[in-house]
Amino acid sequence: MPELPETETIARDLDAALRGATIDAGEIVRADVLRDTTPAALRRAIAGATIRGVHRRAKSIVIDCAPAAPDATIQHLVVTPRFTGALLLTAPRDDRYTCLRFALRDGRTLCYHDVRRLGTVAGHDMRRHAEWQGALGPEPLDPTFTVDALWGSLRGSRQAIKTVLMDQRRLAGVGNIYANEALFRAGLRPTRAARSLRRREADALLRSLREVLAASIALRGTTFRDFQDAYGARGGFAAHLAVYGRADAPCVTCGTVLRATHRLAGRQTVWCPTCQR
Ligand SMILES: [Zn+2]
Repeated sequence: MPELPETETIARDLDAALRGATIDAGEIVRADVLRDTTPAALRRAIAGATIRGVHRRAKSIVIDCAPAAPDATIQHLVVTPRFTGALLLTAPRDDRYTCLRFALRDGRTLCYHDVRRLGTVAGHDMRRHAEWQGALGPEPLDPTFTVDALWGSLRGSRQAIKTVLMDQRRLAGVGNIYANEALFRAGLRPTRAARSLRRREADALLRSLREVLAASIALRGTTFRDFQDAYGARGGFAAHLAVYGRADAPCVTCGTVLRATHRLAGRQTVWCPTCQR
């Protein structure tokens, strides 16, 4: 599932490729991926719209649009790929899974492709967009996000550390891959009670989280199974994962056999019983 580094990779590529481009028309092939809009309202909003820019928020890609129609209120398309969603500037490998197709005035096509259709494309007016933003927690790479903010969030929870890291209302953009990896790097056991963390441990956790997210962004994300960038290419970070997907393999640091459980939120948690306390 695309997390912060993967959606950041898509957003940066699309911003470079699409800023200032005009959408001639939108074709909605599978309306069940739409949220907060109707096919008719979305078509009206994007016909002739200019793309002002593309950025990431949490695990979503936000396409900012200036609609041409004076009565169109949708100004942001919020694409959340979840499992198999992809925003592609190249022809998809299998067109059967194309959900939306945007024809650009310069002849290119941007399409939203999703095999399992668990991803969503929301059309937000200004009010809905502010509401959506407000429901999400702070961004871990935002320089104004401090260790005290993270520590406060962890201490105020009765849940396990890993569960808190993945809660999008408390911290945006971190999912199962990077929660596992950051906790390994910080030497913290994922099942530990969040409220038991000391300030210096929260500090190590924030540093580890930022390091692993930045390292993955530099390699254009992790393709474990499905993730592809806007040009259909794979990310390069999977070879650098220390624990995610490595249950029963030896720890990269000490050689101890890594343990795994599905006890936390039904997702696989992997840790080293020697290095993580
Ligand atoms: Zn170890």
